[in-house]
Amino acid sequence: MSTLRFHAIKESLAHTSKLVLDNDRRSELFGQNVFNAQTMRQYLTKDAFEGVMNAIWHGKKIERSIADQVASSMKDWALSKGVTHYTHWFQPLTGATAEKHDAFFETSNSGLSIEKFEGSQLVQQEPDASSFPSGGIRNTFEARGYTAWDPTSPAFIYGTTLCIPTIFVAYTGEALDYKTPLLRALHAVDDAATAVCKYFDKNVRKVTSSLGWEQEYFLVDKLLASSRPDIILTGRTLLGHSSAKGQQLDDHYFGSIPSRALNFMRDLENECMLLGIPVKTRHNEVAPNQFELAPIFEEANLAVDHNSLLMDIMGRVASRHHFKVLLHEKPFAGVNGSGKHNNWSLSTDTGVNLLAPGKTPMSNLQFLTFFINTIKAVHEHEALLRAAVASTGNDHRLGANEAPPAIISVFIGEQLSQVLEELEGVTKGKLSPQEKTELKLNVVGKIPDVLLDNTDRNRTSPFAFTGNKFEFRAVGSTANCGNPMTVLNTIVAKQLIEFKVEVDKLIDKKGLKKDEAIFNVLREYIKSCRAILFEGNGYDEAWRVEAEKRGLSNNKTTPEALKAKVAPSTIKLFEEMKVMSEVESRARYEIEVEAYILHIQIESRVLGDIARNHVVPTAVKYQNILIENVKGLKEIFDKKFVEVSREQLSLIEEISQHIAGINANVTKMIEERKKANAQSDIEKKAHDYCFNVKSIFDDIRYHCDKLELLVDDELWPLTKYRELLFTR
Ligand code: ADP
Ligand code: MG
Repeated sequence: MSTLRFHAIKESLAHTSKLVLDNDRRSELFGQNVFNAQTMRQYLTKDAFEGVMNAIWHGKKIERSIADQVASSMKDWALSKGVTHYTHWFQPLTGATAEKHDAFFETSNSGLSIEKFEGSQLVQQEPDASSFPSGGIRNTFEARGYTAWDPTSPAFIYGTTLCIPTIFVAYTGEALDYKTPLLRALHAVDDAATAVCKYFDKNVRKVTSSLGWEQEYFLVDKLLASSRPDIILTGRTLLGHSSAKGQQLDDHYFGSIPSRALNFMRDLENECMLLGIPVKTRHNEVAPNQFELAPIFEEANLAVDHNSLLMDIMGRVASRHHFKVLLHEKPFAGVNGSGKHNNWSLSTDTGVNLLAPGKTPMSNLQFLTFFINTIKAVHEHEALLRAAVASTGNDHRLGANEAPPAIISVFIGEQLSQVLEELEGVTKGKLSPQEKTELKLNVVGKIPDVLLDNTDRNRTSPFAFTGNKFEFRAVGSTANCGNPMTVLNTIVAKQLIEFKVEVDKLIDKKGLKKDEAIFNVLREYIKSCRAILFEGNGYDEAWRVEAEKRGLSNNKTTPEALKAKVAPSTIKLFEEMKVMSEVESRARYEIEVEAYILHIQIESRVLGDIARNHVVPTAVKYQNILIENVKGLKEIFDKKFVEVSREQLSLIEEISQHIAGINANVTKMIEERKKANAQSDIEKKAHDYCFNVKSIFDDIRYHCDKLELLVDDELWPLTKYRELLFTR
């Protein structure tokens, strides 16, 4: 091992972190740093409290005088906790979270210093938007953007700063963040689902969408990670020979958590508790040094905020434990990547989970209504759903036989498949009394028992029903869940609206009873969305062929997948549902294509650099040692020289070949990059980066990884896979 690497490893092994114990009074910590309903009740006047609650539950506007009261109480609460600054906290389309801190401290006219925070400062701020992506919405001379308070997500304290969750919009009103369209989508699904719920229960007044994410990540020693320019600059390794031992023994999954990692997790979970993020499970994942953290599900907007916040806190807490968190979808080749399953459901203000079967035939019909409409929505918009999870990192995962394939399909399990089959056989039009009884007793009535054994979970499915929720498994680990959640809730909203129109038509025009009408529409839906249902192995080549026959899309790369975001049907959908205007849809598309290009460009540069100035020089150094050795052998053995130095000579030659391979490919890659950069059309540019630049990465890597095996371990400068993955 090189002395450099040896010392780094020695030091990293010495990194013990402060012992953190599981806090057995988590309920006491929970939400301590959140201005939640409980705290508000304590700090706000009755009027102010009701104003905020009305805004949360009924979307009512908050009066200026109420906002002043809220701001003042929020400030008092924050000051009592040692807070000095406040910030509007938002999620621009960079993927990170953003904040601009301002002090409460101000000097008054009389020269006295006071702590000030008014309604106007709470409700709206005007950060300079020019450094955030806008996709051409805002030209630079009109750089103004607004952040506006989102009262549905409570303010929280992080460090000594009061953070106020906000939306971020352009001066002209277009969304520049993830939250704005999400809130609009949640509103749309609330309206549409509430209207459908009224078929079953007139008392339902609101439907909320819930999200439970499961965050996967890797922990790598910080010192070791910082010895790798690729990890530092791209979040993943661009080269590195696989470790002799990887995940083949499956000895990490659910195994005991290494103590340093455990300390990190406990520390992180305590932070989460204070911030009101209800984390619940932690465990090892499949790959070495890979872990998962999942909270109890929450209302979708809050859950998205909490996930964004978590990704940020993770990095800071990791630093305290000398770790670097890798959130990248594929930090290591040949080792499982990371995803972020999005568990999703809808529930009513009367406490009913609409995707959980109930106790009566009627509540089960309600369940089937939402269940089948969701499947139908996924069927109609599968390409858009795929686009919602497209990213540079996720391209390594989807379709790589460890995560769901890039083909979207829905898994529902054997029993529910059978229920759908029976429903498909329902008579058209009016039902006979016998048929109704039969349906009630044997089909709809039986669902609850049936679901208890719905345990065979197909891990290869991108969109699976798991008993009382759907699990969207194709989301990448770095993703802002706002993106897939906006799409999912919008398509379901759209579908539910159509459903209601069709059912009402059958009731009004054909004189069918309500349940007959519902059965009739559901039957047709089942028939029309068969293509999306798939129970088999998603990794199987046969499925790819079959999916193509069924007309399902299979977009393997981000540039191809993203196109669905600007398909005429998508633009129309988002406009109709008032989630995004055409300008917003197109801007977002442009931002994502641009981000793809930049990510590949950076990876390409970093790979070229490491290959040329780390790998090649090291290989040459070793080759020189071999050459010296051969010269020595010649001196000693003279005539027998060729015989005794055969291996060395062939090694010298082999090294030269790999060096030549690296240089030729890096040169070719740079040429391709130049050509791609010359493209003015960003779609063409992204295509070129994907198919002409990125496609050379593997060839460069191949030669580098071969050299890693040939060159003396003592000379190799880059921390190896085995060291990154197994040092703990
Ligand atoms: P697993 O799938 O690992 O067996 P669970 O079924 O308990 O575990 O749930 C996994 C995730 O699904 C958790 O994050 C949980 O909070 C979330 N979840 C459970 N019910 C719902 C729901 N109704 N809506 C959204 N998410 C949910
Ligand atoms: Mg899961």
